[in-house]
Amino acid sequence: MSASRKTLVIGGGITGLTAAWRLHSAGHRVELLEAGNRVGGMIRTENIDGFLAELGPNTLQENRAETAELLKDLGLDDQRVYAGSVSKNRYILRNGKPVPLPLSPVSLFFGGFFRPSTRLRLLGEPFIRRAPGDTVETMETFVRRRLGQELLDYAVNPFVAGTFAARPPDLAVRYAFPRLHRMEQEHGSLVKGALFGKRHKPEGGRGIFSFKDGLQAIPNALAGRLGGAIHTGTRAVALEKDEKWKATAERNGEPLRIEADTILLALPPQALGDIRITGRSLEESLSLTARLPAPPLSVLFLGYRRDQVRHPLDGFGMLVPEKENRKILGALFSSSLFTGRAPDGHVSLTVFIGGSRQPELATKPLPELERLVRGELKELFGVEGEPCVIRHTLWPRVIPHYTVDHGKLIDDLDALESEHRGLHIGGPVRQGVALGDCIASGFGLAGKVLEKPNG
Ligand SMILES: Cc1cc2nc3c(=O)[nH]c(=O)nc-3n(C[C@H](O)[C@H](O)[C@H](O)COP(=O)(O)OP(=O)(O)OC[C@H]3O[C@@H](n4cnc5c(N)ncnc54)[C@H](O)[C@@H]3O)c2cc1C
Repeated sequence: MSASRKTLVIGGGITGLTAAWRLHSAGHRVELLEAGNRVGGMIRTENIDGFLAELGPNTLQENRAETAELLKDLGLDDQRVYAGSVSKNRYILRNGKPVPLPLSPVSLFFGGFFRPSTRLRLLGEPFIRRAPGDTVETMETFVRRRLGQELLDYAVNPFVAGTFAARPPDLAVRYAFPRLHRMEQEHGSLVKGALFGKRHKPEGGRGIFSFKDGLQAIPNALAGRLGGAIHTGTRAVALEKDEKWKATAERNGEPLRIEADTILLALPPQALGDIRITGRSLEESLSLTARLPAPPLSVLFLGYRRDQVRHPLDGFGMLVPEKENRKILGALFSSSLFTGRAPDGHVSLTVFIGGSRQPELATKPLPELERLVRGELKELFGVEGEPCVIRHTLWPRVIPHYTVDHGKLIDDLDALESEHRGLHIGGPVRQGVALGDCIASGFGLAGKVLEKPNG
């Protein structure tokens, strides 16, 4: 591509930053607009009185080649810190008590967590007929059909709350958990798929990780490389296509016009739908994305002295099944997950409230939220007294839910891109909300420019 052609990336979260960096490092002219005064989007690490707090995502997984390539590129490869072995222990609340979830086949079949009828049912799962390939089923009906009600209630329901802040009826299995859909289609069974299916395990991969200074290390490194190409405090409000793309943005209340040959949109669904675009079909289709359900979620980070907490916090954290009728979705044992996250003699917890299970709780004012969470922590983990630190973050529209209608949105976005040369849309709006998916999406966006330098 000639050096004079320019790409404008809109959105400075991990998706947009990755796309911009890939283009920049390939010698392309690129500029990035970010509405906020910092980069990283949902990635937000803060140091609070010696506690390292993640107010958005907490962990990255070593399951995508693009993540490994990006980290190597940024020189962050050897700065990873891995989750301690204690994190293999995952608690589920059962009858009001945190109980370790059986994760190995032996503990699943011979431990007492699940009823004998559920364990027997698992043995019969390979004999349940697979659904036709074009079936679009919710997680609820899929899991109930293949695994039964108890696994739905005590494994999948809390897992879906912990990953998507969703309930099983909210998500279509083929869009939200495509691997499960493939297992059924390719192996006719989840049990057979888990035992015999191919797994992507990158060489030397050790699983879940972060960095000494938290996940913010990635956006910071990307911003350092991109330098003056990033314009923070600059919100894109409109796009117009003439010979070239013309973006209108606002900075300090002043309008700003920027011309580019290619536009890469790396925005959350609501923000995508808010951008005005000349050309009716484009506008209509983009505003569809604003209708993607994404409930509010409150995150409360709390630090305590070790002697204030009775529970050993010997695990990744605890998830709460809906059936248990509690006011929190779960809690991460943050200072157990990675070392060095709390001052000596102290521990930290990150608690999640709301999601589509209880959206009304997420938006409660902080004093009420704090009272509610401290009540739950006292009952569930024996936490006593005032926290040394507390930090609240409200995500008004957290993670998009891929419903049974999601295929229509994917088709609309595909059609939109082929109709409007030089416009590409990435990020969680389409498929994949995990950081690894977003990094891969950033690679994909940049790849489209590199493959078709003229749009
Ligand atoms: C509480 C929480 C916990 C999570 N936990 C995990 C986890 O442990 N592991 C994991 O893998 N994933 C996790 N996720 C999901 C993951 O963090 C997100 O899916 C991912 O960070 C999204 O990145 P993104 O760049 O696509 O979007 P965002 O991070 O939302 O970035 C989009 C950027 O666009 C900017 N913007 C918006 N409108 C405009 C505009 N008009 N003009 C210019 N800029 C604009 C925004 O300010 C923002 O910076 C979690 C998310 C949350 C909120």
